[in-house]
Amino acid sequence: MFERFQDGLAQLTQEHRRRTRRILQSPQAPHLVVDGEEKLSFCSNDYLGLANHPEIVNAMRDSLVHTGAGTGASHLVSGHHAWHEALEKGLLDWLGRPCLTFATGYTASIGIIPALVDRADAIFMDKLNHASLNDGCQLSRATLHRFRHNDMVQLAQLLEKSDARQKLIVVDGIFSMDGDITPLPALIHLAERFDAWIYLDDAHGIGVIGEEGKGTASHFGLHNHPRLIQLVTFGKAAGSQGAAVCAEPVVIDWLMHHARSHIFTTAAPASLAAGLCTSIQIMRASDDRRAHLRQLIQYWQKGSQHLPWTSLPSETPIQGLVVGENAAAMSLASALWEKGIWVPAIRPPTVPVGTARLRISLSASHQIEDLDLLLDRIHQLATNQSV
Ligand SMILES: *Cc1c(COP(=O)(O)O)cnc(C)c1O
Repeated sequence: MFERFQDGLAQLTQEHRRRTRRILQSPQAPHLVVDGEEKLSFCSNDYLGLANHPEIVNAMRDSLVHTGAGTGASHLVSGHHAWHEALEKGLLDWLGRPCLTFATGYTASIGIIPALVDRADAIFMDKLNHASLNDGCQLSRATLHRFRHNDMVQLAQLLEKSDARQKLIVVDGIFSMDGDITPLPALIHLAERFDAWIYLDDAHGIGVIGEEGKGTASHFGLHNHPRLIQLVTFGKAAGSQGAAVCAEPVVIDWLMHHARSHIFTTAAPASLAAGLCTSIQIMRASDDRRAHLRQLIQYWQKGSQHLPWTSLPSETPIQGLVVGENAAAMSLASALWEKGIWVPAIRPPTVPVGTARLRISLSASHQIEDLDLLLDRIHQLATNQSV
């Protein structure tokens, strides 16, 4: 086994796919300390800049003193604290439907999807879906059909041909590597036409788009369609940790009894739920942060058009700059690092071969001056390269 692992790791090194972890020594923020150096960061998913928000930190600290370090059991046994209940109420009030909470977005999807469909059913998944969705779909044992990214024509054909008992369309709300938005109105139309259901992973949409930051459906002016099951996560715009699924009451009741990653796991500390209650209030009232974020997005889109690399069209905080080869993306990222800017290079298998890229994540806590610096340094590197 050791030999196989050593060979495999050596191959990763050769393909420029070897991973290392940088060590963060300050709170998550645009200006941070990492590996002992101050850097300007464009690599967190802290889209609203809440990861170190004093009101959230205080809510966590205050409740921690009264609720203790751990919950000691799963939600269904004895770990469901009043703060967890308050969190679900807060989500209901915000999103308009009942919710069930999970430890993380990843564990949510690998528990929820297999609870929604099984062997007798079929899943229709966008090719660019997040890994957690792919894993959840595999675990369900349903028949899997992949459709080309956002291709509604192909999806319609696949749905039409299927005679599965139940059909579940599984998509990201905002796609995590390209930053584009799933065409939800068309998906709902197809779901109605072919009697299908939609599981929408709104990890990047919640807090960021839509009225009060309610996510992708709201972005399109839609409300809670009965066929829509929305997953929201709290590690990104909410600035913390956790996830919740939001759906019709009968679906939530079913999931509470069947989603194994909700049932067979210890409830998160109550202090986390307390912090999230505050975070939700802040997200709802963050129109100013969202407006600033939109301004940053437009600024980057405009400023990145004349680079020798492809700036993907995106109206969300996820901005991809496609470089191509792994080594080229890596060297661009390391040249920026030398200039004091931390931007991750994303390589296969996270993105398709030949589309290695910089993934620039914008946050409402960035200032225009931060973007000026990034654009200036990237333009410098582009000029040097062409000389
Ligand atoms: C980050 C992410 C997840 C995982 O959520 P965690 O709470 O970090 O486990 C799931 N889906 C998508 C699309 C994501 O980007």
